[in-house]
Amino acid sequence: MNKGKEFAELISITRKFLEQERNRGIKEFMQHWEEKKAESGTLDDLARRIKDCQKCKLGRTRTNLVFGVGNPNAELMFVGEGPGFDEDRLGIPFVGRAGQLLTKIIESIKLTREEVYISNIVKCHPMKDPTHPEMRGNDRPPTQDEVAQCLPILFKQIGIIEPKIICTLGSPATKALLNLTEGIGKLRGKFYDFCPPYGKFGEPIKVIPTYHPAYLLRDPTRKREVWEDMKEIKKAMTSISPH
Ligand code: URA
Repeated sequence: MNKGKEFAELISITRKFLEQERNRGIKEFMQHWEEKKAESGTLDDLARRIKDCQKCKLGRTRTNLVFGVGNPNAELMFVGEGPGFDEDRLGIPFVGRAGQLLTKIIESIKLTREEVYISNIVKCHPMKDPTHPEMRGNDRPPTQDEVAQCLPILFKQIGIIEPKIICTLGSPATKALLNLTEGIGKLRGKFYDFCPPYGKFGEPIKVIPTYHPAYLLRDPTRKREVWEDMKEIKKAMTSISPH
């Protein structure tokens, strides 16, 4: 065999070997992924497993853990910051004034709360003064540690639901998912890829940040931008293939 032919054969064998190894690697990786997904089970299984969570101090002062609400097969998911006073009382996310505005925002793109899924980066009510849980106006943003302890629950929810699009509401939810440092004013209205650590492997989920409805209650002039962001979501939902 001449040197050229020998070299070509060697390349061909090496390529086949590498392809085989690569395929095996991906298969093993995907198997691992499927196992991780199976670990989460259904949303109800997950809710049952975490109902007595005491991973951070918010567990000690909550009335209800606020897991999430909506369609377990939703194509669109909204993620907020954390339950407030009303949500803590009822155990349902976004039921107070900001929640009523979120309902209108959802309806502006001809969807209902029942068709989407709504949750938060933390599942228990962060309070400025936890010794007065009966007091209104006692809400605060979650600390970094509270978010870090609670985020795996959201990631598991995302892995089970496998939405096509996630709309993050406000800066804390956006930072928690995308790990970007720019302010919400810069980030909003654009799509970013998010690869959740659970769920279908290889298909990033589109994340679009927008302003939090509580911020819109304080500054209604920002509503126009949120309507624009909702239109982008509607457009993307019609162009992305269904489940
Ligand atoms: N604000 C949030 O971020 N989440 C809620 O559930 C309610 C208000």
